Amino acid sequence: MSQYWSKLVHNLDPYVPGEQPKDQRYIKLNTNECPYPPSPNALAAIHAAADERLRLYPDPNADELKDAIADYYNVQRANIFVGNGSDEVLAHVFQGLLKHDAPLLYPDISYSFYPVYANLYQINAQQIPLREDFRVCLGDYAVDNGGIIFPNPNAPTSMALGLDAIEALLETHDKSVVVVDEAYVDFGAQTAIPLIDKYPNLLVVQTFSKSRSLAGLRVGFAVGHPDLINALERVKNSFNSYPLGRMAIAGAAAAMRDKAYFEDTCQKIIATREMTVQSLTEMGFSVLPSAANFVFARPPAGNAESLYLALKQRGVLVRYFNKPRINEYLRITIGTDEEMATFLSVLAEL
Ligand code: PMP
Repeated sequence: MSQYWSKLVHNLDPYVPGEQPKDQRYIKLNTNECPYPPSPNALAAIHAAADERLRLYPDPNADELKDAIADYYNVQRANIFVGNGSDEVLAHVFQGLLKHDAPLLYPDISYSFYPVYANLYQINAQQIPLREDFRVCLGDYAVDNGGIIFPNPNAPTSMALGLDAIEALLETHDKSVVVVDEAYVDFGAQTAIPLIDKYPNLLVVQTFSKSRSLAGLRVGFAVGHPDLINALERVKNSFNSYPLGRMAIAGAAAAMRDKAYFEDTCQKIIATREMTVQSLTEMGFSVLPSAANFVFARPPAGNAESLYLALKQRGVLVRYFNKPRINEYLRITIGTDEEMATFLSVLAEL
């Protein structure tokens, strides 16, 4: 039936999400979800929002959620854009802010959705290779009147840049839009949000999917100068005027307000990560320095793919990328202490 497809569809090369098996028998360390449940306040808010008001359209501005984010980060409602997961926010960002005559730059070895959006919106993009040690070196990024996007920490490498490096980039790039994708920032990196007042070309994108345990609710957001936010609102309102449903707005807002629960979740994951890194290192793995809720580790025998398959057979799912340079590594999401203990003991047997 593909004769009915538009040329655009023929030319798409869509993103392939990590496995989401239906049989529940795996220890799931493959898609960087949070192993802990969402804040009880978030769950209560979602339940409370599921009432007769669902017959009405939700707030098209999602003000309750924007206010919760604004309070947390000490910014204004006008600095915030929300969407259905940061993937959707990023889609609007690529379309509305990153398509220019000058190229869009992003790291080669990074979030694999970037080339998908660049292709979808036919953006002139250039990939900048990581350094030998897998670092993103922002000194390698130079463009006028174009765009730059990178995750901090980067994925799947887990390595973070300091704010000084990001600020140095912004100092020399006031004519290009700079987007920092902070999906994993809460596990040990520093957010660039405090820099938005000084740099009107900076947009920071975050998600509720990782540190706030709400991947299933699909909520993400962007923070930046109101001019950038207006551009995103224009794109969004040309596509779908209701960014989020009533339950998503209420649940995400409550999660944002529950600071103590959020901090506890992050602390637990960081502690488990440090324990995991130590154990993997003792087993001979080489592990990149992680500021994320996952680690990127090279097995001593160089057998990443067969190890991935053997782990899967024994009920542990991790992520393997069959791509040059990173095909020697496994990306392992940090689970609970018990899950990591099982993972490590299966690994030791193998
Ligand atoms: N950015 C990066 C770097 C990611 O790894 C992910 C998660 N796969 C996302 C954005 C998107 O997350 P979500 O759509 O769940 O907010």
